[in-house]
Amino acid sequence: MAIRTNTTRAGDSPIRLVIHGGAGTITRSKLKKELEQAYTQVLSQSLTAGHAVLEAGGSSIDAVIAAIVVMEDSPLFNAGKGAVFSNAGRIELDASIMDGSTRMAGSVAAVTTIRNPIRGANAVMTKSAHVMLMGQGADAFAAEMGLEIVDPSYFYTQFRWNQLQKAIAEERLMQDHDVVPDTPQPQMNEKTDEKVDKKRGTVGAVALDRHGNLAAGTSTGGITNKRFGRVGDSPVIGAGTYADNRSVAVSATGTGEIFIRTVAAFNTAAQVRLQHIPIITAADYTLAEIAALGGDGGLIVLDAKGNYAMRFNTRGMFRGTIGSDGIAQVGMFADDDRASTSNSYGTR
Ligand code: ASP
Repeated sequence: MAIRTNTTRAGDSPIRLVIHGGAGTITRSKLKKELEQAYTQVLSQSLTAGHAVLEAGGSSIDAVIAAIVVMEDSPLFNAGKGAVFSNAGRIELDASIMDGSTRMAGSVAAVTTIRNPIRGANAVMTKSAHVMLMGQGADAFAAEMGLEIVDPSYFYTQFRWNQLQKAIAEERLMQDHDVVPDTPQPQMNEKTDEKVDKKRGTVGAVALDRHGNLAAGTSTGGITNKRFGRVGDSPVIGAGTYADNRSVAVSATGTGEIFIRTVAAFNTAAQVRLQHIPIITAADYTLAEIAALGGDGGLIVLDAKGNYAMRFNTRGMFRGTIGSDGIAQVGMFADDDRASTSNSYGTR
């Protein structure tokens, strides 16, 4: 009798975590070596934190939270500390999370005091009867649930403040990662600010745990000089985040309004589930639709077998992945092969 060796029993699914830290004009020539190292370090820490959860048999939800918290706590990314300012000079944060096994979801929008908005989103999912809370109501709920609350000034960085002044002067919106500081510590003065180039941003993670369950999460400060009260795709379930064990987990970054209009994350998942196409094809199709409407950005996608894709139609995307072998792979540029499975290249 043949012995089947490839049967996945509950508890022995391959584990996998994929993260992004925003897509944009991220090129080798523009990103200073020290800054590249700083990004590599935080992306690796994020992967290690999420992997530790998965390795210990923890849930994909907990792995997604662990990975995102590391990036929210770093001033290098436009999420949590270091997030961008709205036109009112305030920092308003958006985040969402989804559990692929139950299709439960939670999100917070325009919050100003939750230190880790991804935890706020998780509290909405697990401890409220709702999917989405916004503004003061969301901040108050997080406080009631015992999450860490900070003064809004905690999120402030000089670099982001300078970026707002520049955007106001130029009367334009800046995509969250339109500017990359040229020092590892984004404490810039006006002079260094002039040397900066595009981009960096939003953070996200998708994970597959030992039980075969998928999860996805995304966290952002949105875009510089956005109208206060503006909400992008990141906290919108189906646009910036989606997870369904029957297909894939997805986290998005890019031109939020267009990701909402194309329902980007769900769109990708639906193609995989209903058309049975490879995840890479689905991601590229979604990005092509986004490009056709004038948007750009990236998607990370993971299925329940552990196949993954990190796709983008920008010059680069901060990204990384780690699997059962525990080896963290980090990439940034389009031609970067440090995270180069056949699934990981950008689309240009
Ligand atoms: N999607 C985010 C937003 O529009 C920004 C980004 O990912 O670059 O809020």
